[in-house]
Amino acid sequence: MLSANAAIVPRALLLAAFDQLLQPERFKDYGPNGLQVEGKAEVRKIVSGVTASLALIEAAVAAQADAIFVHHGLFWRGWDGRNNGPIVGWMKQRLALLLAHDINLYAYHLPLDAHPELGNNAQLGRRLGLKADRWFGENQLGFLGSRSGAEDGFDSAEQLAAHIKNALNRPVTLVGSAQAAIKNIAWCTGGAQGYFEDAIAAGADAFITGEISEPQAHYAREMGVAFIACGHHASERYGAPAVAAHVAAQFGLAHEFIDIDNPA
Ligand SMILES: [Zn+2]
Repeated sequence: MLSANAAIVPRALLLAAFDQLLQPERFKDYGPNGLQVEGKAEVRKIVSGVTASLALIEAAVAAQADAIFVHHGLFWRGWDGRNNGPIVGWMKQRLALLLAHDINLYAYHLPLDAHPELGNNAQLGRRLGLKADRWFGENQLGFLGSRSGAEDGFDSAEQLAAHIKNALNRPVTLVGSAQAAIKNIAWCTGGAQGYFEDAIAAGADAFITGEISEPQAHYAREMGVAFIACGHHASERYGAPAVAAHVAAQFGLAHEFIDIDNPA
């Protein structure tokens, strides 16, 4: 239950705080960043999560949230390839639940990946003990750091993959020479397999992202650069709670991160 004297913040003020922190105007994104679904005018509690799935919305209702903050919102450019997007099926279910409970949905995609301290890339790096000193690729979303020495315990691609498996508590896919020596490590969370060639050009010995597609397996073998896929969801679990907690603390709002497990 929420205490009677919990802070209350107007919906628009919360939006301004997220916008100020994440600067969505700097990005050409795949969908609208900011307030995607308008709910009640005043917010006392934020629930953060990776994706605005029905399960997350249900959990947010149970947690008495007035706002949900996610990385993957409901609306994407061309979210329904067949026409202009009828509100049917899963979309109707998710929207109906949000609207029935008057919950605000805030979603930030690339700006949440990119934030230098609180974003998905920075937070995954922190989780894995990696620190970037160079950036590459579209929107400079690829992070690249050099290991300072052997003390981190992952000299080879195989050791790095084992380290990631332990840190994220899930299986990972490693393609490329398992014994290859690793000095420069590049990473980009989520479905960033398309950044692999940019990572190679930037000098990476290993590239970490959420997903792998067929071509990257060949590039990894042919270019001698390790490709490590550690799960789209697993690699993007850390940015949304970091940002939501930061903004909630600014206002004294209640915040709770709810992880809806996703093997993909
Ligand atoms: Zn993603």
